[in-house]
Amino acid sequence: MLRGPVAEISLSAVAHNYKTVRNIVQNRPVIAVVKADAYGHGAIEVSKRLLKEGVSYLAVAFVGEAVVLRNAGVVSPIIVLFDKGDVRDFFDLQLIPVIYNIDVAHALSQEAIKRKTAVKVHVKIDTGMGRLGLHGRRIMSDLTKITEMPGVVIEGLLSHFSEADLMDRSYANQQLEKFHRIRETLEKKLKRKILSHMANSAAVISYKDACLDAFRPGIMLYGYNPIGNAESRVHSAESHSETRDPESSSVNLIPVMSVKTKILSLRNLPAGAPVSYGRTFITKRKSKIGVIPMGYADGYNRLFSNNADVLVRGKRVPVAGRVCMDLTMIDVTDVRGVREDDEVVIIGTQGKETINALELAKRSNTIPYEILTSLGSRAQRVYV
Ligand SMILES: *Cc1c(COP(=O)(O)O)cnc(C)c1O
Repeated sequence: MLRGPVAEISLSAVAHNYKTVRNIVQNRPVIAVVKADAYGHGAIEVSKRLLKEGVSYLAVAFVGEAVVLRNAGVVSPIIVLFDKGDVRDFFDLQLIPVIYNIDVAHALSQEAIKRKTAVKVHVKIDTGMGRLGLHGRRIMSDLTKITEMPGVVIEGLLSHFSEADLMDRSYANQQLEKFHRIRETLEKKLKRKILSHMANSAAVISYKDACLDAFRPGIMLYGYNPIGNAESRVHSAESHSETRDPESSSVNLIPVMSVKTKILSLRNLPAGAPVSYGRTFITKRKSKIGVIPMGYADGYNRLFSNNADVLVRGKRVPVAGRVCMDLTMIDVTDVRGVREDDEVVIIGTQGKETINALELAKRSNTIPYEILTSLGSRAQRVYV
């Protein structure tokens, strides 16, 4: 989509963050989560770089996302986390389905029989996330049925934490214990090891007990530390108080995405002039107001109305008035020498100042994940 903002994606930052992951997991297999177009960073480019750096598997949410990667020439194993899709796709494109109920397993088995082949699957157990996966009292009997299905080979077993980002591990421990019991029973039955994986970024960073055979980091590959919403080290100078686990705050991550635009128009206004819908901003003095070609249609949340900063010529300046669909106004009165076409940084660094996705997340009562997917998926992407 050709709109105002540009998202600069640093693939060397992706590589750096992956190395940080690899150091923590000591070279055990990494399943890089590239769902939602790699959290808004562009799944094709990010996946290619991660594979070059040595990741073992990619994970996407839906079959359609895997199709995009295959069409771009990605030949690595791809795990499809949340889709039953059209079963034929798993065979045609050699995708690894995550089985989350018995019907999906059955459909795969039928197709495998028809094709006189077998399909490798990972089976998901709901240990307490309350989302997808075999659950309740039938977990073991369902698992047993799956082991007996012709053409279905269980390669992996997984589950997902509901709160691995908390210092209080009691619930995460319960989930993990449940997982271990099921894994042991299954491995005994099959008389072989199964690739077990549960750890998301939060668990990779600070929950050593959740280190099983493989790891599924997402957000940390994009440069953010999810623990207690701690900022990554590079930008953490002012926010250490929020970091609950001292070890987790020292994880060395670099934000991958910067979002930039330019001043479309500059206007000199007298004191008392209203700016944007609803006149929620009235100039208090003679002011210079910049108009930027970016609004909520670009993922710049309307909650940033009078409630976020951007960077111009190395200075923080506030959003003035309501964010519109395609435009936002900023108060650049205090920026010396400001001109039309000056660069405006929405997230990223300019001079000595930095705005990151965590700052915007706090302003809009959400998490960096949503900021990155919202901005990154709509901007024109440039790889640097
Ligand atoms: C999104 C997701 C992950 C990655 O989570 P992060 O918090 O981004 O590390 C891992 N596993 C599953 C099943 C997911 O849905």
